[in-house]
Parts: sequence; C-alpha cells; structure tokens
Amino acid sequence: MLAVRSYCYRHHGIRLGQREARIWGRAANTFGSKVRDFLLNRKVFYPAECNAKDTVSELVSWKPQYVYGYTSLILEAAQIIEENGFKPDGVKAVICTAESILPAQKRFISSAFGAPVLEEYGSTEFDIIAFECKKGHLHFVNPWLWVESEYDSALITDVSRNSQSLVRYKLGDTFKALESSCELLGDARVIEELQGRTAQQFAYLTPEHKFHAVVFGRALDAYMNEFHECFKFTVSQTEMGEFQLYVSSNPLRGADHLKNWVNLELRAQLNEQQDLITTVNAGEDLMRSGKHTYFFQDLDVHVNG
Ligand SMILES: [Zn+2]
Repeated sequence: MLAVRSYCYRHHGIRLGQREARIWGRAANTFGSKVRDFLLNRKVFYPAECNAKDTVSELVSWKPQYVYGYTSLILEAAQIIEENGFKPDGVKAVICTAESILPAQKRFISSAFGAPVLEEYGSTEFDIIAFECKKGHLHFVNPWLWVESEYDSALITDVSRNSQSLVRYKLGDTFKALESSCELLGDARVIEELQGRTAQQFAYLTPEHKFHAVVFGRALDAYMNEFHECFKFTVSQTEMGEFQLYVSSNPLRGADHLKNWVNLELRAQLNEQQDLITTVNAGEDLMRSGKHTYFFQDLDVHVNG
C-alpha cells in the first residue's frame, strides 16, 4: 500500500517523507502520535475551531511541501487563506481524500494554495484505490486490487493475499469505471463519476418519482462557477418534493438569489415545474458536523412509506 502511495506521489513530483501538512481531525495529544508525526515529517492541523485563523497561519509559515486531508477541512483552510491574504509558498500539491469534491471547489483550493489539487479515492482497508493523473483522470492504481463495478456499486477484491482473494468487498460507493486511453498513471481504467456512498443518495419528488442527489451537486457547482463563490453545502429532505439547502456562509448576492437561481437550474435539469428548495439556511453552525456529505435523506419512512 505504501509502494502504491509512493508511486502516485512521484507522478506529481512528491516523495514520501517530504514535509506534509495534514488537515485532519484534531491531533491526538499523546507521546506516540508526536513521535509518529515527527518520524513521518508531518504536522497535523485542525482548522475548524475559534482559533482556525491562527492554525492556518501556522500551517502557511511551516511551509509544507504538500498538503493532505479531508476535502471539507481543506476548503475551510483555503477560505481562511483567501480572507486573510496569506501566501502559501512552495506547496507542490494539495491532496483531497475521503469526501467528494466539485470542480468549482477544486479551482478555489488550487488558487488559494497556488498548487494543483489532486483527488484520491481510497478506503481504510485498501488505502489508495484510485488517484488523479496530471490530466485529471481518476486512475485505478493498485495492481493487487481487482475492482469491479456491478449495478454501479464498487466491489474490491484483494488478490495479493491468498486468504482474501475470494472475498469481494462492497465498499458502499457508486461509480462507473471506464476504459481510457491515458497511460500516465496506473491502469488505463478510470473512475468516470464518483457518486459517493450509496446510502441516502436518492431524493424523492413523490414516492414513485425519485432522482439521484448528484443533481444538487451539479446545480451548486454551476452556481459557484457563475458567481465566483465557494462554500460548503448540504441538502436535506424532510418531506416529499421539499428540500432545505444549508450553506456554510452567506452568499454574496443573498440567500434568496441563491434559492431562486438553484431552483431554476433544478427545474431545467429535472424537467420539473415546481421549486424544490424551500429554504436556504446560511451559517457554519447550522451545518452538520462529521464527515461531509452533500445530501441527507431525512424523510420519515413511517409517514412516507
Ligand atoms: Zn490519465
């Protein structure tokens, strides 16, 4: 697994052991974790509390050679960098893992850190499964993993260990695998569109009429592109055909503007006549904590069948 990681990093001019700023949950304050971070030449930063600005300032002056971490926390750090005019220097790449990322968010992070943003798709069990090449494809990179996509669901088999090679792990992610002609990194097979965890991915207009929640991601990405903004967002559904949009900060043109624009976009994408977003709630404190997901299905199944 470490060899695969090293291979992916080298493709982008990074070597394991270079200074790594890890944007992660709070670092464990134990002797063991301090020794480990020292040996691995990395420092953990957690920019999500009241002293987030100091944390990010410290990160920038530590001059990491690369940045690695959760997409939502990296986005948080990028916003603080922009707001305060910090100038990160010498960062070769920003590697986003664990959570999906939109093209508009990627561009924002890239401009804040002055470095390319690379997407990594992996799991605790197998570490890196797919990694981004210089052309932006998400290539399968571990030759000891057999990856299948059956009914759009990812199945992973570890063929390096005899005891494991009969087990097809279902990770609970949805993606389509494509044969590409790109030979820059790993296998020519690439992930076309990673749709994240399969649970809670359908939004309902009526009990019979559902659509994939990736539509919300596309609409918000279009908005951020159009108006040069960047924020985190979550959509929650509590009633049939009614959705609440939560955004991490107040949009520059106001919450109503965002609501109306996104509603028109959703109407066009879904070919529907009704407005889907009923409320927009702005503020970091209103966002759910934990791993960031774009869509929460909060329908009461007992009432709605
Ligand atoms: Zn490629």
